[in-house]
Amino acid sequence: MSKTHLGHTARKRFGQNFLHDDYVIGQIVSAINPQHEQNLVEIGPGLGALTDPVCDEVEALTVIELDRDLAKRLREHPFNGDKLTVIEQDAMTMDFTELAKTMPVKDKGLRVFGNLPYNISTPLMFHLFSHAACVDDMHFMLQKEVVNRLAAGHGSKSYGRLSVMAQYYCKVMPVLNVPPGAFKPPPKVDSAVVRLIPHKTPPVDVVSVATLERVCAQAFNQRRKTIRNSLKESLTETQISELGINPTVRAEVLSLQDFATIANAVSALEE
Ligand code: SAM
Repeated sequence: MSKTHLGHTARKRFGQNFLHDDYVIGQIVSAINPQHEQNLVEIGPGLGALTDPVCDEVEALTVIELDRDLAKRLREHPFNGDKLTVIEQDAMTMDFTELAKTMPVKDKGLRVFGNLPYNISTPLMFHLFSHAACVDDMHFMLQKEVVNRLAAGHGSKSYGRLSVMAQYYCKVMPVLNVPPGAFKPPPKVDSAVVRLIPHKTPPVDVVSVATLERVCAQAFNQRRKTIRNSLKESLTETQISELGINPTVRAEVLSLQDFATIANAVSALEE
């Protein structure tokens, strides 16, 4: 399979797999449902597979692209006129909260979307969660396995740190599955599109989100261990029991509420 699409040779280090299936592109754009008077932001526009049809629907779109050649090409794209603002930057270093302040529609948050580079998708999700307060919604193409992890409930094999933190910040809705053949070059894995809607009020009360993240990391880094072992740096077995949580279970059976309860107990001890 050729790595060249529309005259551009795909760069593996930038996770470049370009969408070329019009049916799939149409389905993704319908799921995003772009409208006028919204602050739309695309991460990784590439050759414009989603950029062009979204631009057709709205008067303004901001795109963030790391690849200099692609950013240049998008700036020179004749069809976009002056609708498109191209930011040549690593999305991982983008301060989305500051970006939101520069957006034209002042009383609305960002609507972020993109067919993300899979090599950075998990850290990028965590980066975006930290800016969730300025985001109205997100639609992302990801590796299907990552979408499964985002949406997994406790007790499931895919459940982990990403599930707990995603569900703390957002309502997670898988939208559609996409086969490798929809991309050029085709990735080695299946893909899926997910919709994430940040909660206006978090579903559980957490004193410190940083502590919640730390407790999740400790518990899932050693996911085969019981939590009395994986969390022993933070809480004793007795302290876990006193929270009404069985210390002999593994992290994968704990709900978001259980993690919040544990994190709040750790925060109280650290005060
Ligand atoms: N949206 C296009 C499509 O669907 O055909 C391209 C998707 S491709 C999977 C990922 C895009 O993200 C590429 O254009 C790549 O250059 C860009 N990219 C990679 N790393 C990036 C980063 N850290 N920040 C912003 N864009 C990045």
